[in-house]
Amino acid sequence: MHNDLERQRKNITTAMDYAVPEESRAEAEDLLDIYRDDSIGLTLLLEFYSYLPEAREDWIREIRLVKRHQGIFLLAAHTQHNHYLYLVSSEGIEFQGNLKDGFLVQELIDFFEYESVKAFMEACTPFENLAIYEPLQNDAEICPACHAENGENHELGCPVEICPWCGGQLVHCDCRFEKLGLDALTTEAELTQFEVLLEERGRIPYSPEQRPAFADEGPGVFLD
Ligand SMILES: [Zn+2]
Ligand SMILES: [Zn+2]
Repeated sequence: MHNDLERQRKNITTAMDYAVPEESRAEAEDLLDIYRDDSIGLTLLLEFYSYLPEAREDWIREIRLVKRHQGIFLLAAHTQHNHYLYLVSSEGIEFQGNLKDGFLVQELIDFFEYESVKAFMEACTPFENLAIYEPLQNDAEICPACHAENGENHELGCPVEICPWCGGQLVHCDCRFEKLGLDALTTEAELTQFEVLLEERGRIPYSPEQRPAFADEGPGVFLD
């Protein structure tokens, strides 16, 4: 993993030699530094600098998160005049065009649950409303989702926490419903009740081997 990131960074730096105007090099590298340990961010940078969308010198000012779903990220790379869309996951990257063309393939409109291309465009306007894409935590000693340290309990609702009854992902298994005899957890009280049962059983604290390929949603996904 570490070597992979290092290789990615090296390849980006090499590609930058051809892509980035001399006077902007330092700023372009500042952005690279932000994502130095984030394979999603590095994948995007490498793709951009290796295959410049306009086939001429350019550099990325910032990366914004358009949408994420199941470890798949729709990111926008902001250059001087354009916002280029990329679909990125641990599996790879696909260029999705220029935001100003106002187009996204229907498959992705559906996948990211936009009502229409128009709704997608509205969500991206103004561009500054989109959140800056934050690098995923790559420190193995810290839970990438709730930031519990090795040996600490996760925040309740953390998608990385393992269920002490079935060994599955606690936010996704059915144990909470079975233990409480309910079809859904809809109140804070039910959640507290479940937490008591969980403490009695003994929670499984965070350890680095629980790390998923990607952090899911943050804490708080228990209540339907
Ligand atoms: Zn956690
Ligand atoms: Zn379970």
